[in-house]
Amino acid sequence: MLSGIQPTGELHIGNYLGAVRTWRQQIEEGTEETMFCIVDAHAITVPYEPKELRRNIDAFAIDLIACGLDPEKTTLFVQSDVREHTELAWYLASVTPMGDLHRMTQFKDKGEGKDFVSTGLFTYPVLMSADILLYKAQIVPVGEDQVQHLELARETARRFNHRFHGEGGVDIMVEPRPRLSSTPRIMGLDGTSKMSKSKGNTIGLFEEPKPFWDKLKKAYTDPLRLKLSDPGRPEVCNIYTMHKAISADETILEVAHKCTTAAWGCVACKQVLFDNFQKELIPLRTKRAQLDIEKVRQALGDGASKARRIAASTMTEVRTAMGLGSLAT
Ligand code: ADP
Repeated sequence: MLSGIQPTGELHIGNYLGAVRTWRQQIEEGTEETMFCIVDAHAITVPYEPKELRRNIDAFAIDLIACGLDPEKTTLFVQSDVREHTELAWYLASVTPMGDLHRMTQFKDKGEGKDFVSTGLFTYPVLMSADILLYKAQIVPVGEDQVQHLELARETARRFNHRFHGEGGVDIMVEPRPRLSSTPRIMGLDGTSKMSKSKGNTIGLFEEPKPFWDKLKKAYTDPLRLKLSDPGRPEVCNIYTMHKAISADETILEVAHKCTTAAWGCVACKQVLFDNFQKELIPLRTKRAQLDIEKVRQALGDGASKARRIAASTMTEVRTAMGLGSLAT
């Protein structure tokens, strides 16, 4: 099982509820071998500051470990530490039709109206396919926004296997399957699009309680609920979606009941959500405060070494199957 996250901006509550929390659960279950990658080479597809990126890589590593991605139990590494990702991406580009990339909604979303749209943003899904296929990952736990990219990765695996064959005619690529959490799409605070680091509509997971509450308090809810006495519709409300992810079963029932009967206003409902978030965050904050950056960097180095061993073996198969390279090495 493999998944990744971009070290851009800050880890937000959408990332946590949609992805990172399920990652921790998979590690704790221990039924699958897991790998998690901080995808810095994806982060450079939009304008960015090199120094900030470097800082963010450290910050994301710390935050992810604090969330339970314990390097003793999983392989946590930085994408660009394993050069095979970008190498495989180039090779996979040769079996990826441009038309498929043109259909990707994330490209349209992130590129629309921008003065500069990089080729990297266009070929982003090819690199993501490489991230996954390099390790022959079978399961990729992601939020809903990544399902289209994952479909492309499956298609790419099929195309590659159709065109190239390993020793004895075997398939080299494994088709990955997406695994969605129970809250695969958390909307942004503005309610207009998904919560995303690139949209400035987030609440940072490790934000201090006061700014956390200040942002949550103003978050978009049911647009038809104009007055306190109007009954709300939990099924369209982002706050209810978050309750479902974080609150106890009896609270979720209570929220639905008090919203639809207008017994609670939105602020009261948000206050309960805030309290439950803070409870969930206490152990994470404690863990985060104890982490030592030097040890974290060492863990990333160890993770990269482990990842590199798998990556190198896949690339030998790939180069041989594709007829690349001299016989000198
Ligand atoms: P972002 O869009 O904030 O830059 P990433 O692309 O780094 O996030 O995604 C990291 C993980 O978090 C992915 O598995 C992605 O599907 C998931 N994710 C991102 N935003 C959300 C969201 N708003 N709701 C649910 N999951 C999300």
